[in-house]
Amino acid sequence: MTCILDTDIKFLPGVGPRRSELLGKELGIKTFRDMLYTFPFRYVDRSRFYAVRDIDSTSSYIQVRGRITSISKAGTGRSLRLVAKLHDGTGAIDLVFFKGIKWIEDKLKVGEEYIVFGKPSVFNQTYNFVHPEVDPASSVNSIRTGTMTGIYSSTETLHNSGISNKVLEKMMAQLLEKCRGCIEETLPPHILVQKKLMPLEEALCNAHFPTSPQALSQAQRRLKFEELFYLELSLLKQKHIRMRAESAVIFKRIGENFNKTYSNLPFPLTGAQKRVLKEIRSDVASGMQMNRLLQGDVGSGKTMVAILAAMMAVDNGYQACIMAPTEVLANQHYKGIFKVIAGTDVKVALLTGSTKAKEREEIHKGLLDGTINIIFGTHALIEEDVRFRNLALAVIDEQHRFGVEQRSRLWSKAEIAPHILVMTATPIPRTLAMTLYGDLDVSVLDELPPGRKPVETVHWTETQRGTLYNFMRKQIGMGRQVFVVYPLIKESEKMDYKNLEEGYMAITEAFPAPKYVTAVVHGQQKNENKAFDMNLFASGKADILVATSVIEVGVDVPNASVMVIESAERFGLSQLHQLRGRVGRGAEKSYCILMTGYKLSKESKQRLDLMCATNDGFELAEADMRMRGPGDFEGTRQSGLAFDLKISDLAKDSPILEEARQLGQAVLNEDPDLSEEKNRLLAKTMSLMKFEVKDFSNIS
Ligand code: ADP
Ligand code: MG
Repeated sequence: MTCILDTDIKFLPGVGPRRSELLGKELGIKTFRDMLYTFPFRYVDRSRFYAVRDIDSTSSYIQVRGRITSISKAGTGRSLRLVAKLHDGTGAIDLVFFKGIKWIEDKLKVGEEYIVFGKPSVFNQTYNFVHPEVDPASSVNSIRTGTMTGIYSSTETLHNSGISNKVLEKMMAQLLEKCRGCIEETLPPHILVQKKLMPLEEALCNAHFPTSPQALSQAQRRLKFEELFYLELSLLKQKHIRMRAESAVIFKRIGENFNKTYSNLPFPLTGAQKRVLKEIRSDVASGMQMNRLLQGDVGSGKTMVAILAAMMAVDNGYQACIMAPTEVLANQHYKGIFKVIAGTDVKVALLTGSTKAKEREEIHKGLLDGTINIIFGTHALIEEDVRFRNLALAVIDEQHRFGVEQRSRLWSKAEIAPHILVMTATPIPRTLAMTLYGDLDVSVLDELPPGRKPVETVHWTETQRGTLYNFMRKQIGMGRQVFVVYPLIKESEKMDYKNLEEGYMAITEAFPAPKYVTAVVHGQQKNENKAFDMNLFASGKADILVATSVIEVGVDVPNASVMVIESAERFGLSQLHQLRGRVGRGAEKSYCILMTGYKLSKESKQRLDLMCATNDGFELAEADMRMRGPGDFEGTRQSGLAFDLKISDLAKDSPILEEARQLGQAVLNEDPDLSEEKNRLLAKTMSLMKFEVKDFSNIS
């Protein structure tokens, strides 16, 4: 039986072939269902207008009605902008446009009355609207009687083809009329009742044409819940299947190597480290493959957890590998382990791109015959010719640096899928992590080793460079070391290296040898030079390390107490936080100095202010996600979101996500195959809803 919702959108009166093509191309709307599930991203109370006089810094999205009194252009090139002045009798406000200037210019007429919708911002001590929605006052009238109007996302092409918000609204009204009575409920009664959810048809009507603000919020809750519930249900179902299907290596005992290493530790483990080790221990003894994400803020001590987990493998006669995204880091891990394996017979090795052919051969041999117990390394570990005797634990550090495919290549190196521990410093809320990474279990190191002092963060502009250099001199005079980091967004960006080179010259001029020693590390250097300079700094012989963001991941130099980040506005929040985490590891008070030019976008300013205000990685990650959306989130950028959400926002809707996951889990606990009568609808809907959830079971 075909459903009316599957009807091609071109058959909706008023659409036709030309418009349907546009809708498909611009908004991805092909069927009635697609259109029904294209929701407004915002609603305006069209009955209320704000007086310009009353606008203050707390005003969020508001509507203003007034006449345009002048239109002018300012700036040149990329800073070219169009400014229209709008008077409403109580005051004037500027409407500012940076993009689509030609289009806006054609649209706006001096002397006409307009209704402007947007969020006021402050610039040059006055309020203005940047890229507001503007409609001639005459065109905005009541298509319907409700006071809330949905605003749909649009594109310039759609606008130019006459498909305005008003036209979309009309189409939507037609569509709802046509579908009335034919929209089948997708959630079974027991869930609707338990969660107090609005029926689907009512929810769809209210999402497009709210009868009241209350009805709208209930409608949105219902639709979000449904979406996230089915998403979680599919993820959980996959997990069930995997748990039943796979067998795994069992680490039966804790042995001598673990115990000896443990007693060699130069510090007591934090409570969080102990707890996570217990979680790992119980996973690897369970008979099921461990698939665990370890989140811990920078400096929380993830490496030691990894090393102790590796010891569990060794004590049971298996091999472990610890993979890092850069040679610098792999090197550091490798060196670090010698401090704690004294007195054990554990054999470790390091394999990276710069391992010499002869040594490489030996390592290959040692891995194959099992004489090497723990191997550290970079991507070199996943090369075709690397074979293990019995790899049973793979630790992947700073997970987001590895592509999905690269990770899956590790799996193929063992007969039985090895236990996986993925470590990341990018903190994201627990349920969200499980949603993004599939059915990983999540451990959190939520405690820093004792004695860490919060890093003092300041934002300075170019005019304060003299102050910066004085501050650096003072710190170096006290025996401290300083990082100076330049952005490197893409390896190919020549500009970045130019910045770095110029920066390096400026630094060596201001901090001349032999009084000061400056090391430099960047991606285009030969590996041996990189290692040499890195070593110079790590061993305390260099006072300053000038680097691109290659040092971002995990370098540990406790004596470094100052982190200077150049062009800080070019980094994302989590990157800045990672970089800042390089200092504040020793006993000394540490500083992070964010350098930028004087002019900054509002968003950059917000980011930098937030960095100065908090040291809490979780808070920053959540803010980052609010500002950029989870699709752009550090950890997911490579793979993108594995599914397409129509109404929910993983960052903002985490309480609903949480609830949806819990219910999904409860339903599956009771009825794993969804075969009970009351759950039939769930099974059916799930098979229809095509969340393109990738199979995560063998990737992370
Ligand atoms: P990250 O979680 O960022 O990878 P590391 O594992 O590099 O952090 O640890 C940061 C520093 O803290 C290292 O110098 C490490 O030796 C030290 N460290 C780890 N655990 C503890 C602990 N329990 N007490 C004190 N220092 C610790
Ligand atoms: Mg680390």
